[in-house]
Amino acid sequence: ATASSTLTKRVLLAAPRGYCAGVDRAVVAVEKALEHYGAPVYVRKEIVHNKHVVETLRDRGAIFVNETDEVPEGARLVFSAHGVSPAVRASAESRNLDTIDATCPLVTKVHKEAVRFAADDYDILLIGHTGHEEVEGTAGEAPDHVQVVNSPDEVDQVVVRDPAKVVWISQTTLSVDETMETVRRLRDKFPSLQDPPSDDICYATQNRQVAVKKLAPECDVVIVVGSANSSNSVRLVEVALQSGARTSYRVDRATEIQDEWLEGATTVGVTSGASVPEILVSDVIARLAAHGFADVEEVRTATEDLMFSLPRELRPALKAAG
Ligand code: SF4
Repeated sequence: ATASSTLTKRVLLAAPRGYCAGVDRAVVAVEKALEHYGAPVYVRKEIVHNKHVVETLRDRGAIFVNETDEVPEGARLVFSAHGVSPAVRASAESRNLDTIDATCPLVTKVHKEAVRFAADDYDILLIGHTGHEEVEGTAGEAPDHVQVVNSPDEVDQVVVRDPAKVVWISQTTLSVDETMETVRRLRDKFPSLQDPPSDDICYATQNRQVAVKKLAPECDVVIVVGSANSSNSVRLVEVALQSGARTSYRVDRATEIQDEWLEGATTVGVTSGASVPEILVSDVIARLAAHGFADVEEVRTATEDLMFSLPRELRPALKAAG
């Protein structure tokens, strides 16, 4: 045998990975709405940022739209897990839409912080990515008080009215380390910068980053299953690289894995973003097995048992159904 064939090719599978409580709730909300009211059910934006999930729900009768004005008057509309601004709610109301709010409760929590600090007339520095739906929703709660800070490098350009009255809040799906770097630089600039009352980066985002950090140093390549517009999935690639993985790639599905990524590799890490169904990970594991990576070892850094109850607008329908 050659030297390389004596090395066991193995997979380190991150845990926790995949679905979080907020994604599960949002997907089930659309499924239940379809079951109880029948198609079509309109959904504003992608219910969660995953291609496979969106395609599956579309096949079952969900119609995805960008804005409320694309929805016929009086129809049923689900708001996605990422949340919406008050302006979007008002527009839905003016069109008499029957709305079901699938905003993750942990996003709603950040909205409430924005409202509260705006009422106290703070300048609110929202660390997050311009253009991401969650950031649009949160900023829309207090457009006159919020400014978005995308990265540590943007801190230099931040201007506030009163440096003694500044608070930071954040998008829920950022890199913990990069966010802390942004906060550090903001605090250098505004020493009385106030922290949010609790962590805005959610438990699921943090747990998935901790798990990938643990396995990355042992990996020749880390494969992250998740869609390109999924913030937390994209962060997992960055975290893997910063934590010592030689290379890391994001794929929507197993067929995107290229043979050359695996050439010469002995250890492949696998994880998935918070919007990714486990079936997509199983497909990746099967594809790796076909390349000789049959030995799969789970690397677990936390266990999760959080569950959210379904949006309250659905409860009468669920009750009627028994
Ligand atoms: Fe909620 Fe976090 Fe999941 Fe986003 S990633 S839906 S904030 S639990």
